[in-house]
Amino acid sequence: MGNFYTDVISQDPHFQSVKRVSDPSLLEPTTRRLVEGIVSAASAMGIELMIYETYRSQARQQELFNQGATKLRAVGVHHYGLACDIVRVVGGEPSWKGDFSFLGQLAHSSGLIWGGDWGAPDIKHSFVDSVHVQRCTVARQADLFAGAWYPDATYNPYEDGQHLFASVTEPSAKPKVKVRTPASNKPASSKQRT
Ligand SMILES: [Zn+2]
Repeated sequence: MGNFYTDVISQDPHFQSVKRVSDPSLLEPTTRRLVEGIVSAASAMGIELMIYETYRSQARQQELFNQGATKLRAVGVHHYGLACDIVRVVGGEPSWKGDFSFLGQLAHSSGLIWGGDWGAPDIKHSFVDSVHVQRCTVARQADLFAGAWYPDATYNPYEDGQHLFASVTEPSAKPKVKVRTPASNKPASSKQRT
């Protein structure tokens, strides 16, 4: 059972590219349609945008991780054609300057998660990527990277209730295991009180 990643991306000559790829044809079709819709909507608002990066190889992901530009080392959502970086155009050049909250609003209304809040605007995020959008919740990423899940054409991360909730609670939700205090790791002392 194939999907856009197995059928198109993994067969593409760019698959191993260490260079940035901005070709929209390497975005999964629903993601591509939504991204192009965002660019058009921004244009109608008088904001010129550029599809800066679509597909990303594992080699490039590793390079960006080393530079501190991403917190995902081996693979990211870009690798699956489900994420896109969209920047402003200023004087014909890509620009990351200024407020990108409009992109968050357009992403939300399009059904894409925005890297400015990762789909959870009410919590403070340690990593913010305000030019990034993706058609996948943060909680789904592990399954995506494992090859266990790929969105169908109608998947909407904002309707992915259980997983969206998980992504909201994830940073503080530690597995409920008994925490050993340093003292309890020491061998029982003969002076131990009873
Ligand atoms: Zn990105």
